[in-house]
Amino acid sequence: MQSVLITGGAGFVGQNLVHTWRAARPADRLTVVDAMTYAANIRSLEPLIADGSIQFVKGDIGDAALLQRLFEENRFTRVAHLAAESHVDRSITDPEAFLQTNVLGTFTLLKAALDHWRAASVLDRARFLHVSTDEVYGSLGWTDPAFTESSPYRPNSPYAASKASSDHLVRAFVATYGMPALITNCSNNYGPYQHPEKLIPLMIIHALEGKPLPVYGDGSNVRDWLHVSDHCEALMSVIERGRTGETYNVGGGNERNNRNVVGLICDMIDRAFDAEPSLAARFASCPAASGRSCRTLITYVTDRPGHDHRYAIDATKLSTELGSRCSVGFEGGLSQTVHWYLGHETWWRDVISGAYQAWIDKNYGFR
Ligand code: NAD
Repeated sequence: MQSVLITGGAGFVGQNLVHTWRAARPADRLTVVDAMTYAANIRSLEPLIADGSIQFVKGDIGDAALLQRLFEENRFTRVAHLAAESHVDRSITDPEAFLQTNVLGTFTLLKAALDHWRAASVLDRARFLHVSTDEVYGSLGWTDPAFTESSPYRPNSPYAASKASSDHLVRAFVATYGMPALITNCSNNYGPYQHPEKLIPLMIIHALEGKPLPVYGDGSNVRDWLHVSDHCEALMSVIERGRTGETYNVGGGNERNNRNVVGLICDMIDRAFDAEPSLAARFASCPAASGRSCRTLITYVTDRPGHDHRYAIDATKLSTELGSRCSVGFEGGLSQTVHWYLGHETWWRDVISGAYQAWIDKNYGFR
């Protein structure tokens, strides 16, 4: 039995990881610490909070006193660190928050864990997993080989630079203090509970509402799409069985350009409307409601500054050392995701409208 701290557990990947962990290791004690920024949502965790199967703490990873108290009370032996500012576009307009949380926050958390584990003499049994991104490696040319764990760091956005800095801090804690830490660098995730500001949910929701589908540049930028359930399985393998001090790349093996992804989403929504006539009444503004293709909404917009052309991940180390492989094919996973958003209209409407914030106030008095 482990006592586990999951930071950022109310975010997209964090929520999915809490559910994966709960199902895989029911005896472990889980504590979620999350600052409940705009990106957080604890509705899916509410049943687990209510029945006491997880402890939820609203708090900032930059709060050293809070972390010290939580380590003393809970004696964590596992930390899965996911808390971050995560949206590249926001990092371009407001980079300070990214440095504060992703760099200084990670440092504060590392120090709290190290201090506690040293004092409790459990450094040899404890594990700290730092969840990072392939964006630290920069951009690939169309024919370059995929990123490996030894690819040089060349971050291009403030987000990527802040995550690169945090990776370097983790590495330095391993080399300098013997911190039992591991790093994962993964590609773009998709799946249930992703905030509507990210590409796939944004396109699904805009299509349903008949709004333009804004695609950066000519839509040729390539991402390696990873279903969040495969990511969470990989994180569980790495934290339990990975070698401390090591980095593991996690990728979906699903390289697609944005034009292709958005086109597939449109086709999937068109087909869903054909198969389920009641959708036309629920989403009357969607072109599919009147028999037109959602592709008519695709609009090419000025490219993002510093936009990386291509990411691709070589996940050989993860599969050969730990036997962890992705099992969700892209088109199946995308179709499931489209249907998840079709079936969770209240969830995303509340997030978009701010009703979720009101619900948080009423139920938890967080804000
Ligand atoms: P997210 O933005 O959905 O969630 C981040 C969570 O962190 C939110 O719940 C937020 O409230 C919380 N948080 C932010 N600042 C905090 C602070 N100072 N203290 C405590 N909590 C704070 O992000 P995500 O998509 O779930 O990503 C999780 C992690 O995975 C991040 O570290 C991200 O860099 C990494 N990652 C994500 C992807 C992806 O495609 N989603 C890809 C690669 C890496």
